[in-house]
Amino acid sequence: MPKTDGADEALNRVNTNSKPSDLRITDMRVAEIVGAPFTSALLKIYTNQGIVGLGEVRDGASATYALMLKSRLLGENPCDVDRLFRRIKQFGGHGRQGGGVSAVEIALWDLAGKAYGVPIYQMLGGKFRDKVRVYCDTDAEKPSGTETGKRLKERMSRGFTFLKMDLGLMQIAHVPGAVAAPAGALEGFRANPRGRGGALEERKARNLAYDVQNVQHPFTGLHFTEQGIDLLEQYIHEVREVIGYEIPLAIDHVGHISLQDGIRLSRRIEKYVPAWLEDVIPWQYTEQYRQLQEATTVPICTGEDIYLKEAFEPLLRSGGLSVIHPDLLTSGGILETKKIGDMAQDHGVAMAIHMAESPIAAMAAAHVATATENFMALEYHSADVDWWDDIVTGIPKPLVKDGFITVPDKPGLGIDDVVDEVIARHLQPGVTGIWQPTDHWDNEYSWDRTWS
Ligand SMILES: [Mg+2]
Repeated sequence: MPKTDGADEALNRVNTNSKPSDLRITDMRVAEIVGAPFTSALLKIYTNQGIVGLGEVRDGASATYALMLKSRLLGENPCDVDRLFRRIKQFGGHGRQGGGVSAVEIALWDLAGKAYGVPIYQMLGGKFRDKVRVYCDTDAEKPSGTETGKRLKERMSRGFTFLKMDLGLMQIAHVPGAVAAPAGALEGFRANPRGRGGALEERKARNLAYDVQNVQHPFTGLHFTEQGIDLLEQYIHEVREVIGYEIPLAIDHVGHISLQDGIRLSRRIEKYVPAWLEDVIPWQYTEQYRQLQEATTVPICTGEDIYLKEAFEPLLRSGGLSVIHPDLLTSGGILETKKIGDMAQDHGVAMAIHMAESPIAAMAAAHVATATENFMALEYHSADVDWWDDIVTGIPKPLVKDGFITVPDKPGLGIDDVVDEVIARHLQPGVTGIWQPTDHWDNEYSWDRTWS
């Protein structure tokens, strides 16, 4: 038997996380799920010391956005989070295209935390709060404000202290005289272009609907009529009648309408004190955001589709925002969102966080929320998903309790593991298994320099 150092041998046996400087990335795999509440891909980054980092690709985004990064990360030390993030960030983009880089960044933080035995919020500078306030998003499936108000009231009875609902085009598009629209324009918004595969004609129809929904607001030609704005005001009036005026109520999904219609609607609903009005126009139109915010006392908000801090900067400098709303799974991940929050604070702007995925994404966001001073509320879109907590182990359950998340004092994200039996019951259509080999991504290569 070879002679070994007793202490080393003991360390090797009892603690595989004890050598951070020798930690290496060995593999990356995904599990593509649906219903928690939308589609997303859970991500695992494996190492040579047995510890596994968890991440998640954003709702609605392709797992390919993460897997295409595998060959750029194999053999690296995951504790070099920022260095690796800067290597891969050229492969991310706005909206869902930020999903891969962000998922990887989160998994790297989880690994670094597990390797050194430290919670992520501590690595970001420590706590501003022990509990993270969650706002409960509620899609406006109900035809009347009173009915939606009752749903929101039920959320309040479960302890939520901050709410969000939809108010906009799709609630009135079916009412004759409520929307002025070029012939055929509204039909394109009613189609659902999601899904994959199919015969050529099916693909063509889906792509056509997709193209229609990608027309930016100033170019749709859609306008609320006075009757339409009356109906929307009546809707929020009914909601406030049910839930009262004390609880914050944010507004989303105004629809693909113009800046001018956004101004008309926002002025009309000022007396219902919205916590914010979200994504009224595409975030790229900085000057239009400035005009919108200057025209109304309703706090104006955007950010869930913005990739990287540098794209938030012009909006913040313009004065066009009162609330930013990054999604960690698009923004570039944990450290980038902390930086975005701090930059917003310098401009006197609060940070809410968008989140519509599993407890992995929720925990990543909760660590940033814990460690960022101007944080206001974190989105929770899964109040009606009864298996949401079951995806993971090691966190307090229910994770969202009385409207708050309590971040555990545990290494990394604070999650012990994912539960394969639960995940396997909720696979996306066409997906044949979980954590399947991804060897075909091992040798992906291009000369990745973005300058010469
Ligand atoms: Mg939104």
